[in-house]
Amino acid sequence: MILEKETETNTNTLKELIQSELRPLVQSIDIDNHYPEAFLRLLGEKGYFNSDVFSDREVLLREFHLVEEVSKTCMTTGFTLWCQLAAQTYLRQSENNYLKSNLLPDLENGTILGGTGLSNPMKFYGDMEKLHLQAERREDGYVISGHLPSVSNLGEGHWFGIVAGLNNNQRIMAFIPCDLVGLSMKGKSDYLGINGSATYVCRFDHCFVPDHLIVSADADAFVEKVRPTFLLYQIPLGLGVTDASIESIKRGRSKQRGSNHYLQVQPEELEAIYQQQRESIYDYLETYEDTLDWKEIVQMRLDIAHLTLRSVEANMLHSGGAGYLYKSHPARKLREAYFLANLTPTVKQLEKMLA
Ligand SMILES: Cc1cc2nc3c(=O)[nH]c(=O)nc-3n(C[C@H](O)[C@H](O)[C@H](O)COP(=O)(O)OP(=O)(O)OC[C@H]3O[C@@H](n4cnc5c(N)ncnc54)[C@H](O)[C@@H]3O)c2cc1C
Repeated sequence: MILEKETETNTNTLKELIQSELRPLVQSIDIDNHYPEAFLRLLGEKGYFNSDVFSDREVLLREFHLVEEVSKTCMTTGFTLWCQLAAQTYLRQSENNYLKSNLLPDLENGTILGGTGLSNPMKFYGDMEKLHLQAERREDGYVISGHLPSVSNLGEGHWFGIVAGLNNNQRIMAFIPCDLVGLSMKGKSDYLGINGSATYVCRFDHCFVPDHLIVSADADAFVEKVRPTFLLYQIPLGLGVTDASIESIKRGRSKQRGSNHYLQVQPEELEAIYQQQRESIYDYLETYEDTLDWKEIVQMRLDIAHLTLRSVEANMLHSGGAGYLYKSHPARKLREAYFLANLTPTVKQLEKMLA
């Protein structure tokens, strides 16, 4: 197993880092909208985002595992990490040498944090929505206008990927800084959960994007190339939340003289499905040949979304009144899971893709 190359010591080091640097912040991330920026930067500083000394498969496995471990403790942080990894994926796969040599190293060492505004394009390619951003060609770049309702993991000095329509036949993809002239951002924090995700509405008012920030002038082909990785990295968000929910259910076994035993969903059942899903995805990552299979990943992403929802609901039932407190662990997991169900591709889009 490639993952075994990550020695026991390394996995323990990551767990210790999460325990000492992230766990104490979890409640303020969930309740006070605290954005775990320092923790993300620390992961970069410690080399967890590095790709240069690893094969593509090793990078996938390391990053998948990283999102899983972080999401066991906090899925808001897992989600911001996913945003960061999506941004890195765009630059790794781009043929733009300026972005690869000037920005990618700083993303990978955590100096720059990044996000992705690709929900709307994913829905556009899924024939569900019009594109929200439009581009006009200028001599040495593009002028972009429009708005994106939610982009996360943003802030001062951060960057993110966008797709804009040039004409009926061509879309372009760019990687832009948050201080781009003409871009205005308004923070959003009235969601049911994950309000520590540094999420903003982004309005583009004739923003000039120079050619050297273009990830691809053929976004249709580029998105098709990166979307399996983009989707794959969402799966460990669900694995992490599911694992944490099952552990929480087990801790409550003896409550009220063991009466949880009468509930219809028991941890053993959830654990068996969880182990089977987890093993099949890791097996897949260790054995896929050349390219990732989109349909297979869509199915795995849908399966984990459903399992996560079942697990957090079971955790609420097993926890009873204590779980119904707003600040409780089961209530936080419930809010996290409903975000996973509504993260593009949402459950309804995944079902549509497989229909
Ligand atoms: C906390 C949070 C963080 C998110 N982070 C990102 C991110 O980093 N990048 C990203 O690309 N997407 C992000 N999204 C969007 C997410 O991935 C899904 O697309 C969305 O949650 C659900 O989409 P839906 O298909 O149900 O469409 P709906 O949300 O029902 O949207 C349908 C239509 O309404 C528009 N719309 C929705 N909300 C608003 C609004 N407030 N103002 C104006 N128009 C609106 C949509 O653009 C769309 O055209 C985030 C969403 C949330 C809740």
